[in-house]
Amino acid sequence: MDSRTGLPVVGVVGAGQLARMTHQAAIALGQSLRILAAHPDDGAALVAADVHIGHHTDLDALRRFAKGCEVVTFDHEHVPPEHLRALAGEGVVVLPGPEALLYAQDKRAMREKLTDLGVPVPRWSPVSTMDDLTGFTDGPAVVKASRGGYDGKGVWVIEKPVDAAELVASGTPLIVEEKVPLRRELAALVARSPFGQVSAWPVVETVQRDGICVEVLAPAPGLSDERAVQAQELAIRIAKELGVVGVLAVELFDTGNDILVNELAMRPHNSGHWTIDGSVTSQFEQHLRAVLDYPLGATNAIAPAVCMANVLGGADGGMRFDERLHHLFAAEPRAKVHLYGKAVRPGRKIGHVTVVGGSFEDVRPRAARAARWLSDGEG
Ligand code: ADP
Repeated sequence: MDSRTGLPVVGVVGAGQLARMTHQAAIALGQSLRILAAHPDDGAALVAADVHIGHHTDLDALRRFAKGCEVVTFDHEHVPPEHLRALAGEGVVVLPGPEALLYAQDKRAMREKLTDLGVPVPRWSPVSTMDDLTGFTDGPAVVKASRGGYDGKGVWVIEKPVDAAELVASGTPLIVEEKVPLRRELAALVARSPFGQVSAWPVVETVQRDGICVEVLAPAPGLSDERAVQAQELAIRIAKELGVVGVLAVELFDTGNDILVNELAMRPHNSGHWTIDGSVTSQFEQHLRAVLDYPLGATNAIAPAVCMANVLGGADGGMRFDERLHHLFAAEPRAKVHLYGKAVRPGRKIGHVTVVGGSFEDVRPRAARAARWLSDGEG
């Protein structure tokens, strides 16, 4: 308990943009989060008042950090499962819990669990040898590292099994999946509290380029109500069956005929950044409410069309960042800008921009243009 505010202390392991934006929500709720940051200049460490410096793989650092926290939650899924179990065993309230979080940490465990639950997933198989791979396919496929991937890293699209020979020989734990003929990608974002309350935001379309999400459209254009409810119910069912507490993002493939589950994330997620400016309750506030077991907030969109565009680090076109902001604010007064306090590297997500309005014809080009201004100064 924070003696000044009388409010419970929430600890967030990891200090990237998700912790930073969760902190913004915490401020509105009268609080400052406790942050475990690997580096003092991580995005959330730059803005929070209670920052511990330590690495998420260091159990003693985690223990010191957790002392005095009512609940410990996460900005990423990279804390070793054995450390999470150790903390939970010592009485630390870890949410989502280690048993649930495993399915966001390990793609093979996630695929096995969802298959057991009868949730539709791409056809898949674990891979340890080339025979496993050739037994699965003699043509194109998608090979994935079981652990540690993000933004398309740890995902390899192969034309034939031999393309993955070196990878298989490296001993990296892998799975292989059919290459799904996807029409587009969707995401269903839900939250669940320990009390068992659940809430679901409108299902969104996530537009990907080179394995990176560049744009999110809320609600997903042209998705029938029936399909949207099906996706929301699927995500709620997964949250319940896996015992998730907090926000759960379910990344989906829409093939036109089916909806298949690709990935799970048990924390605020890029597909939910639009909720800050476009929904009654943001995913960051909802995550805090959920892990503190408060009643959840309303998840309606506040307008018919919301577009969130990621700002990716671009070429240094010679224009200073504040000049870019100047131009953007002049050109798109409706754009809501969120910058993460990160050093610019090409392709790195350094911020996002959201535009809320009456139609996608209106908001989409505005958001894209605003993101381009910030990315490389080319409006
Ligand atoms: P991560 O989120 O860890 O980067 P994903 O499993 O979400 O990895 O894969 C990244 C992207 O690769 C997906 O968003 C999708 O565009 C593509 N992809 C992944 N799996 C498949 C698949 N089985 N079939 C077709 N495309 C895929």
